Amino acid sequence: MQTRGILTVISGFAGTGKGTVVKGIMEKYEDYALSVSMTTRSPRPGEKDGESYFFVSREEFEKNIAENGFIEYAEYVGNYYGTPKAYVEKKLDEGKNVILEIEIQGAMNVKKLFPDAVLIFIMPPGADELERRLSGRGTETAEVIKKRMDRAALESEGIEDYDYIAVNDNVDDCVEAVNGIIRASRLKPAFNTSFIEKVRNDLKEKARRN
Ligand code: 5GP
Repeated sequence: MQTRGILTVISGFAGTGKGTVVKGIMEKYEDYALSVSMTTRSPRPGEKDGESYFFVSREEFEKNIAENGFIEYAEYVGNYYGTPKAYVEKKLDEGKNVILEIEIQGAMNVKKLFPDAVLIFIMPPGADELERRLSGRGTETAEVIKKRMDRAALESEGIEDYDYIAVNDNVDDCVEAVNGIIRASRLKPAFNTSFIEKVRNDLKEKARRN
C-alpha cells in the first residue's frame, strides 16, 4: 500500500472552530502531522511560539520568502501567513497525513502545486451562528469581527473550489467527517499506483504461467 501521506488543506471562515476540529483529529489519531505556520501577526493570549505559529517580524518573513522557504504564503487582514516547506515534505515522506490549516488564497496555491492534495472547507451551521462564535471569542475588537465577517462573505464565493465540505455543528462529528474524507482519499487509485501495479503484474504473470 502507499506510504506517502496525504497533504490535506483545511480552511474555513475565522470563528468556524476549524482549529478545534484539527486539534481533535491530532489527539485522536496517530498518523497525522500538523504544519505550524509562520505569521507576522501578534500572538493572542495563550498562544505559544512554535505551537500555534512561529511568530516573526515582517523582515524575517520576507527573508524566508526570498530563500524559497514556503510552500505557499498569503497576506490576510494585514499580516503575512506562510507554510514552511521542510517540515511538510519530511512528514509526508514519513507517511503522515499533513494538515495545513490555511486560508483560501493559500489553499488555491497548494492545489496548483500539489494537484493530489485534498481540500476540505469547514462550514459553520449558518451565518448567525458564525457571528455568535466570533463575538463569543472575546479576544477581538468589534472592528476586527466586522472585518472577519466581511472576509467570510468574500471567501464564501470560493467554497466550490474545495473537494469537500464538513459542517462543524458538533466537533466530534466534524472530526469524524474530516477523518473519513482523508481515509477515503488515501484509498484512491492515484495514491496507490505501485501497489496496484504490483498486484496487476503478479496476476498477469500467473495468467501467463497457467
Ligand atoms: P488567525 O489569525 O485567525 O490565526 O488566522 C487567520 C487566517 O490565516 C486563518 O484562515 C488561517 O487558517 C490562515 N492561515 C494560517 N496559517 C496560514 C498559512 O501558513 N498560509 C495561509 N495561506 N493561511 C494561513
